[in-house]
Amino acid sequence: MHAQTIGRRGGPGPSPERDRLPERTDVAVIGAGLIGLSIAWRLARAGLAVAVIERAKAGDGASLAATGMLAAAAEHEPGGEALLPLCLASQRLWHPFRNELEAESGLTIDYRREGTFVIALGRDEVERLRFRHELQRRDGLAVEWLSGPAIRAREPGLRPTVTAGLFCADDHQVDPARVIVALRQAFRAAGGRLIEETPVTALTREGGRVIGVETTTGSLRAGTVVLASGAWAGEGGLVPDLALPVRPLKGQSMALQMTPRSGGLAHVVWTEQVHMAPKGDGSLIVGATVEETGFDPHLTAGGLYALLEGARRALPGVEEMRVAGVWSGFRPTSDDDAPILGEASPGLVLAAGHHRNGYLLAPVTAEAISTLILRGESLPVAAPFGLARFAPPAPHDSLRGETA
Ligand SMILES: Cc1cc2nc3c(=O)[nH]c(=O)nc-3n(C[C@H](O)[C@H](O)[C@H](O)COP(=O)(O)OP(=O)(O)OC[C@H]3O[C@@H](n4cnc5c(N)ncnc54)[C@H](O)[C@@H]3O)c2cc1C
Repeated sequence: MHAQTIGRRGGPGPSPERDRLPERTDVAVIGAGLIGLSIAWRLARAGLAVAVIERAKAGDGASLAATGMLAAAAEHEPGGEALLPLCLASQRLWHPFRNELEAESGLTIDYRREGTFVIALGRDEVERLRFRHELQRRDGLAVEWLSGPAIRAREPGLRPTVTAGLFCADDHQVDPARVIVALRQAFRAAGGRLIEETPVTALTREGGRVIGVETTTGSLRAGTVVLASGAWAGEGGLVPDLALPVRPLKGQSMALQMTPRSGGLAHVVWTEQVHMAPKGDGSLIVGATVEETGFDPHLTAGGLYALLEGARRALPGVEEMRVAGVWSGFRPTSDDDAPILGEASPGLVLAAGHHRNGYLLAPVTAEAISTLILRGESLPVAAPFGLARFAPPAPHDSLRGETA
């Protein structure tokens, strides 16, 4: 089972037209999540024949479960230094990516630029927030320290116990439900084929090269195959030889409906327990739990309680809000929390492991993978994120380590 949802927002809905599996294509992409669709759209608009094969419906994996924050600064934490340049490059690319996506799909994606607050409630949290601010400043992020009253002047619905906070002006957000519909539309408008409800069961190989895929409805020959199957990329069924270090990290989230009586928020707000993101349709997404439970999709009382309690601690108005939906999803998480991008073997390209940053990293991922396929070049900022970084050290390296 992909996820459990009760009233999740949006998504493509039933598709009027169904694309058929072609016999051959330039590029076959496995997985119609945000990452697979973003790459496929960029390649199709560059003139390649592209087919995306999805075992469920577009977005049904992690992509429709996400909040849609583009939070390079708010999410920056100790150990994230290696990933930061990729996050910042992608954050800068979001502007043109959004403009082109909206123009080519004819749809809007609720790209909001109000910025993000990370708030502290009480003295202990202020100390921890100071530490985080120090790290952000050291790593060159433009983040502003604000007093509690200064934050409440801009978000009057927050409790007076807000003691201080950070303002991350460049951390914007999009609406995942709208992004997936727009990508689907733009990709098909560029001539791409989206084949849904069709699991890929195997890769086809010839002389050491991947030359296509087998599906439940037939086979497809492809010049290049892109593995963008999210948390399922590590399952091993398709690429047992690679043992991809990707696992599912479950997140439960909910949507509340803001009303004039309840009040709400105008910015994304993070506390130590939850994030809250107001959307253009009047809903407030509250997320997300972080659970190592494999592919168990179930919503739990404990998970939903933690979300509500965390939200209420900062924003009392949530008590008045109607619950519009609750759901779970699986972040595709690699062993170092960074994506795995690049060629794995002749004919096979990887784009997986985007963890909690898939939306933030979609534009740079699409650029890196399309540059690789179209020109055979690797994008310098993405070069450190190949699969090779997980290779065990060569024997003489580990010997050196033992005697040092
Ligand atoms: C609760 C939650 C909140 C999040 N919030 C944010 C956020 O605010 N900002 C952010 O940047 N990121 C966020 N993320 C992370 C983000 O959602 C993911 O990083 C991103 O969606 C990954 O996209 P993907 O396309 O790689 O994976 P997926 O969306 O999971 O897509 C993979 C697809 O591959 C398909 N598939 C798998 N195996 C096969 C097969 N054999 N054949 C055919 N199809 C197959 C699946 O059905 C699936 O549709 C959040 C994630 C969760 C769970």
